[in-house]
Amino acid sequence: METKKIAIVGAGISGLLACKYTLSKGLQPIVFESQTCIGGVWTKTLETTKLQTPKPAYQFSDFPWPDSVTEDFPDAHQVLEYIESYASCFDLHKHIKFSIRVLSIGYGGPPDEEMMSWSLWGGDGRPFGSGGKWKIRVQDCLSLQTETYEANFVILCIGRFGGIPNIPEFPPNRGLEAFHGKVIHSMDYAAMDNQAAREFVRGKKVVVVGLQKSALDIAMECSTVNGVERPCTVLYKTEHWNLPDYLPWGMPLERLYLNRVSELLVHKPREGLLLSLSATLLSPLRWAVSKFVESGIKQKLPLKKFGMVPKHSFLRDISSCLVSTVPKKFYDRVEEGSIILKKAPAFGFCKNGISIDGEIEPLNSDLVILATGFRGEKKLLDVFESQLLRDCLSGSPNSIVPLYRECLHPRIPQLAVIGFSESIANLYTSEIRCRWLAELLTGTFKLPSVKKMEEDIEEWHKYMKRSSGQNSKRSCIGALHIWYNDQLCIDMGWNPKRKKGFFAELFEPYGPTDYLSP
Ligand SMILES: Cc1cc2nc3c(=O)[nH]c(=O)nc-3n(C[C@H](O)[C@H](O)[C@H](O)COP(=O)(O)OP(=O)(O)OC[C@H]3O[C@@H](n4cnc5c(N)ncnc54)[C@H](O)[C@@H]3O)c2cc1C
Repeated sequence: METKKIAIVGAGISGLLACKYTLSKGLQPIVFESQTCIGGVWTKTLETTKLQTPKPAYQFSDFPWPDSVTEDFPDAHQVLEYIESYASCFDLHKHIKFSIRVLSIGYGGPPDEEMMSWSLWGGDGRPFGSGGKWKIRVQDCLSLQTETYEANFVILCIGRFGGIPNIPEFPPNRGLEAFHGKVIHSMDYAAMDNQAAREFVRGKKVVVVGLQKSALDIAMECSTVNGVERPCTVLYKTEHWNLPDYLPWGMPLERLYLNRVSELLVHKPREGLLLSLSATLLSPLRWAVSKFVESGIKQKLPLKKFGMVPKHSFLRDISSCLVSTVPKKFYDRVEEGSIILKKAPAFGFCKNGISIDGEIEPLNSDLVILATGFRGEKKLLDVFESQLLRDCLSGSPNSIVPLYRECLHPRIPQLAVIGFSESIANLYTSEIRCRWLAELLTGTFKLPSVKKMEEDIEEWHKYMKRSSGQNSKRSCIGALHIWYNDQLCIDMGWNPKRKKGFFAELFEPYGPTDYLSP
């Protein structure tokens, strides 16, 4: 029988996991990576970037962190070394083609109309059912020569946090062109070597736009270089419950949000009557847990003093995967005046800096660093040659990228996307998704009908809209890790209950090692 060829795009953690688990099932993966090394986002971070997720939740289930890494939040070098040793341990490098960028992928199979009329994925519900093949057009980043590969299945692991920067839209005549200073995106700053980055900001009036991890880290670096003489301003739209640590009032956060009892408090997609009733009856407790965490954060960080108390709940932020860790001593810098926090719901550029709506004086600046995230959805859609497939994935302007089990589109055959939907511990989530996919590819289970998959996606989207509101496009499963994993376990024929004993099952936090073996 012909060995099925699997093309994997990207060699970050998702691509490596996809490679490892397809190999383990006897499939033939080939990984295309545009960079010269593995590790994805971890190859280009700021000097000060650390893991935000506690180490035990961000680990490969069968490959513990080495004893030499004693920190709970290792730095980016340690994360990269860990990823490197994982790839070496499972001999993954030889399956990767480095410096090869995938320009586009096109599906060669039955005509579009036939594909769109299928009631089962790929026509008959099997992973290679339709017999079609993907054509993968690649370019060598050094010689610029292009080539086309064929594969029976494509796994897109191109990441959400890189590639195409998200540049906010500005009012007419108040865009970037109005400004006489310099504007860069955080990814350009992260790409500089550390010394160059320090020299770049030295002596400049810097404004950092954003309030997530990169923004906070960049502001810290600027304030280290420029001190109080040239304070760095952080311009943000909305306050968030960024964490000083994972121990509100000394209670490990995973005991409040990563065990089954915490998920009992939340309405879940496709829950039965009993679970729905318990989530409704326990809603005061849900509120109380969120308040408990919020008060724990306020006890450690002077949010009130600096007008940084969010109007929404902590639950909303964690459900939207919008909780960054605040660098140590960040608020000391705010206190001393080397970092200034400034709220600006709407702003544009002017000749000398930034003009904030409702304020007369502009915020003078020499350099603006936009830590405004990435356009992960555009990066994903741009890979497809076919407009029809792009339309399938994008849906309507406000819709969330529709992926069944956050992995595959019911109407796009022989293709999976890993690492698009977010979680609090993305390695953990990518690993179980890759295992699920490997089981699907080798026939352990079959997918339900297209209609059923679409209904399921719709239920998850309703949940995401309810729990994350305007941030629902992040497709975050942060507050429902276990419930989500349960669905994958059931598909694979695994027992979703991974703990020993009733109380452990309810109260013990779940993590990657709970899914070590089927
Ligand atoms: C600064 C920072 C800190 C973070 N901290 C955490 C954290 O603490 N906890 C957490 O859970 N998550 C964190 N994340 C999220 C992080 O993105 C994930 O944890 C994870 O590393 C994503 O891995 P990935 O493989 O899915 O994507 P990526 O790491 O983005 O890898 C994608 C790979 O695909 C390659 N690629 C893309 N397009 C193409 C193409 N067309 N052709 C060939 N190759 C291509 C890229 O070069 C890249 O190597 C952080 C992200 C950033 C940016």
